[in-house]
Amino acid sequence: MLDGVAVANQIRAELAPAVSAFTARAGRPPGLGIVLVGDNPASAVYVRSKLKSAGDAGLRADLERLPATASLDELLTVVDHLNRSDAYDGILVQSPLPAAMGDDAERQVFDAVSPDKDVDGFHAVNVGHLVQNRATLVACTPSGVIEILERSQIPIAGARAVVIGRSDIVGKPMALLLLHRHATITICHSRTKNLPQLSAEADIVVAALGRPAFVTREFVKPGATVIDVGINEVTDRAMVERLFSAGSKRREAFERRGSLVVGDVHPEVADVAGALTPVPGGVGPLTIAMLLKNTLAAARARTGM
Ligand code: NAP
Repeated sequence: MLDGVAVANQIRAELAPAVSAFTARAGRPPGLGIVLVGDNPASAVYVRSKLKSAGDAGLRADLERLPATASLDELLTVVDHLNRSDAYDGILVQSPLPAAMGDDAERQVFDAVSPDKDVDGFHAVNVGHLVQNRATLVACTPSGVIEILERSQIPIAGARAVVIGRSDIVGKPMALLLLHRHATITICHSRTKNLPQLSAEADIVVAALGRPAFVTREFVKPGATVIDVGINEVTDRAMVERLFSAGSKRREAFERRGSLVVGDVHPEVADVAGALTPVPGGVGPLTIAMLLKNTLAAARARTGM
């Protein structure tokens, strides 16, 4: 089992002196402005955890809240204010936005964030830089995956890697990061034929599709490294009972809460994989560590300090 919490702590420990040094040079800490629209409970949990982690790391982190009824224009005004403020080096607008804002709202908001403050790495300019392998700000989840692979001495150069999922925030940047480290990549999606067979040829499988326990034993070559990006809230008792044995910690957690966070990888994969990230405690903590790292990188790049 690869330990995402330990790797995230290591990254945070490395960041601490760099954040102090920046603060001393610039006369202010790196600043992160987070915007949360509406009352999605999962988003509220993520945002609280990002604010706490940023504060613990010595960053200034402030939250702007907007009601679920806010208009897209109101949100764009907040983003504009953060773009112009010198106190903020990074801006993060928590997804998802309320459906009432419209299908295109997220794209418009990501486009509105100044590329030099785009600590999520979603802006087209930063994505372009990533394609050309000269990015400063790269999407946090896939860059966290690279950190755990590299710090666990999993060879990437020359490896066959299968990325399941082609979203702009995980699958595509993940594939590019692996490609730049000289892996041979196959990107799979909902129309891919023979997915289990393709996946079973890989030395590294990254599952980022958002389907609980989708990647079963037959997807994994014995000894392969499997990275589980999925975060799926499962309330279906029958599914939990199929996945986790009676008396196990995971079953007990389900009994207590009535729901369970399950990754995209089936627990049985632990029997065949050479290395596997757990859910929770795998990629999730790394995503937040990379957000802190990106905020410091943005602060340095913006100020030249
Ligand atoms: P997304 O935008 O919904 O994209 C899912 C991708 O998976 C799509 O490309 C889709 O294919 C593909 N897919 C869906 N069903 C499939 C199937 N049956 N077979 C093959 N491919 C399939 O999701 P996302 O935002 O990338 O997130 C993926 C997962 O990662 C989610 O569980 C999310 O919660 C989690 N996540 C975790 C973190 C973290 O910090 N750990 C961060 C971000 C996301 P099509 O393109 O063909 O539709």
